Order: sequence, then C-alpha cells, then structure tokens
Amino acid sequence: MSATIVIGPYSEADRAALTEAFAPVFVASPAELAGLDNATREAARAVAFKGHRPFDGAAMDLLPALGLIANFGVGYDAIDVAAADARGIRVTNTPDVLNDDVADLAVAMLLMRGREMEQASQWARSGQWKEKGEYRLNRKVSGGKAGILGLGRIGREIADRLAAFKMEIHYFARSEKETPGWIYHADPVSLAAAVDYLVVVLVGGKETEKFVSAEVIEALGPRGILVNISRGTTVDEAALLDALEQGRLYGAALDVFLGEPDIDPRFYALDNVVLQPHQGSGTVETRAAMAKLQRDNVAAFHAGAPLLTPVN
Ligand code: NAP
Repeated sequence: MSATIVIGPYSEADRAALTEAFAPVFVASPAELAGLDNATREAARAVAFKGHRPFDGAAMDLLPALGLIANFGVGYDAIDVAAADARGIRVTNTPDVLNDDVADLAVAMLLMRGREMEQASQWARSGQWKEKGEYRLNRKVSGGKAGILGLGRIGREIADRLAAFKMEIHYFARSEKETPGWIYHADPVSLAAAVDYLVVVLVGGKETEKFVSAEVIEALGPRGILVNISRGTTVDEAALLDALEQGRLYGAALDVFLGEPDIDPRFYALDNVVLQPHQGSGTVETRAAMAKLQRDNVAAFHAGAPLLTPVN
C-alpha cells in the first residue's frame, strides 16, 4: 500500500520521477479521493498536490493518516491551510525557484501592452505594413513610473528588472521594506494614483480578494496599465472589465483570471488587453525545479527530516 497520493496533472517526466521515488497512487483532482478504496486512503501519509481546484477539510478527512500536503507552486490558496492546521497536517510550497520566470513574464507583458506588440505584430502579419505604411506610434515605457503591489519574493524581482528600465519604482506592502530608494505607499489607492503601470504580485486567497478594487482601478486611470500575475481573485474583475470597455483604463496584461481557464468572454472582445494562459512559471527548467522541490519535501517528510519549504 502506498504512503503517497499524487493529485493533479503531471508531465510524463514528473510522473516517472514520482513513481520512482514513492510508488504513489495517482488521481486527477481532490474530488477523486472519495473514489479510492478505504485501504488506499487509510495508508496515505503524504499528498503531492498540483492544481487550482480546492483542497478543503472534507478532502483531508478522506485521508485519516495524512501528515503532509506538498504543493506544486508557491501560491497555495487552493489549500485550506486553516483546515490543515486544525488536523495537524503540514503544508509545503515551492518558493523562489520560479521567481525569475514569473518576473520575466510580468515585464514582457508590460512591454507587450505598452508598446502594443500584439497589434503591431498583427499589422506586419496581415500585410497592412506593406499596404498602409508604418504602425501607429505608441507609448514610451522606459523612464515611466511603476508600482509593485506586493513587494515579496517575485515582486522584488520585477522591481529590479523595471529599475533597469530606468523606471521610478513605487510599492505597496503591509510594512515598509528596505529598498534601494523605492517609494513606499501604505495603501493601494495611493500607489495606483502615483504610477502609470501597476503590477499585482500579491498572494491569493480570501484576505486579498478584490484588493485591486474599482477605486484602485480608477486611481490608475486612463493612462494606466494593470499587469496581474498573482491570482484572478486579487482584482475586482467586473470593475476591471467595465473600465477597459469604457476606456477608463488604458490597458491590462493578465496571466490569471477568475474561473480560469473558462475566463469571462468579455476579455476576448477587448483589444486593449494582453491575455496569457497562466503560464508565469511555465518553462521546462522551472517546472522541473518546482517538481524536484516538491518531491524533496515529500521525501523529507517520509524520512522524518525537517521540511525544506514549510508553509505552516
Ligand atoms: P510572497 O513573497 O509571499 O509575497 C507576497 C506578497 O503579498 C507580499 O508583498 C505580502 O505583503 C503580500 N500579502 C500577503 N498577504 C497579504 C494581505 N493579507 N494583504 C495584503 N498583502 C498581502 O509571495 P511570492 O513568492 O512573491 O508570490 C506571490 C504570488 O504570486 C503567489 O502567492 C502566487 O499567487 C502568484 N504566482 C503566480 C504565478 C503565475 O504563474 N502567474 C507563479 C508564481 C506565483 P508583505 O510583504 O506585507 O508580507
């Protein structure tokens, strides 16, 4: 009987590595745990979890000997950590190994929207360049003012990159941080009002739900570009769509959405939005590093050794 259950979609290489290390039982989602026989569920001491479907207390109760949920990803908002705490279950995540990729994508999205690269590419591809001449002038990005909403691990990497674009860096966090002279804002509306580009890098979950409110979006205003690589929940998406449709916000570049991948179809009709399919950490190298860190946490747990990257 296996002591490990693997939940979620894994690549062939990751499945092979998990199989070699733990000879686990695989299921597609937490909802499938109920379909496992009693002996399998009772033997499970660790879960390797990947995905964004909720892993709640009821799912944990199906595995009475569970001691660890090792999340694939730094954001663990799908896991009810309070429910895990109440059951003495440890939770781990995969921080840091993905910082560079997520920061790279955020900066690329900002440039892509600011310099209208999607539309300009279409101009070239469709032959309009040849027929109508040069593409319309767009906006300068270097030297602008950038706001980082959530100056954590990834937020800092983004700020460092944007500073290299000679941008003035402003940020919000719950307390002022040591920085190379970046400007602190104690509330998100003040941050949004001060910048042209607002990059959202908050944790997800209940506490940050709609942190980017209608008021924040209004403060960012008709010259403002919102970049979100955190979670769909951190932005008031209805207010964002209204502002984009009515030209009260210049544009947005989004990697995360409510209800993804079944996103609001209003996004498809907008040409002032860059859409990315939640691929912030989606490189071969980084996904392999995340998978290894997850396996290392599971192995440490089974060996009774300290967890590498604990959440609780
Ligand atoms: P982190 O180091 O923990 O930083 C999180 C930031 O969120 C910090 O600035 C923190 O503020 C802020 N925060 C936490 N709780 C808050 C609250 N209740 N109210 C206001 N602010 C709060 O996390 P990270 O490693 O940078 O990752 C950030 C997030 O990015 C992840 O949680 C995940 O959702 C998302 N992410 C997305 C992708 C993607 O593919 N698009 C990939 C990786 C991560 P303080 O500094 O004040 O603590």
